[in-house]
Amino acid sequence: MDVEREIDMLKDEIHTLKERLEDIKMECECKNWARTDGWLTKHHPSCPKYDLKGDAIKIITALVRGIESWASDEDGVHDDCWEAYQRAKCCIGEI
Ligand SMILES: [Zn+2]
Repeated sequence: MDVEREIDMLKDEIHTLKERLEDIKMECECKNWARTDGWLTKHHPSCPKYDLKGDAIKIITALVRGIESWASDEDGVHDDCWEAYQRAKCCIGEI
């Protein structure tokens, strides 16, 4: 087995373990809630841990960090996403 394939398999395993850890950390009935990955929140609106705004901020923050990481490999943030990037930074309180 080549090293790159082994690394990919380990990355998949880490991703699976992170998802399982996230389910364990939830410790609420939403763990068994029939939801679709990719939804904004993993908690049902009736759950006390339901925090739509907080979950949205986490997603926006992750997106901003991704743009910044990509921009650091290029010539900065691309002009086409500059406005959206600035608005996202404003949403998470960084401007
Ligand atoms: Zn919940």
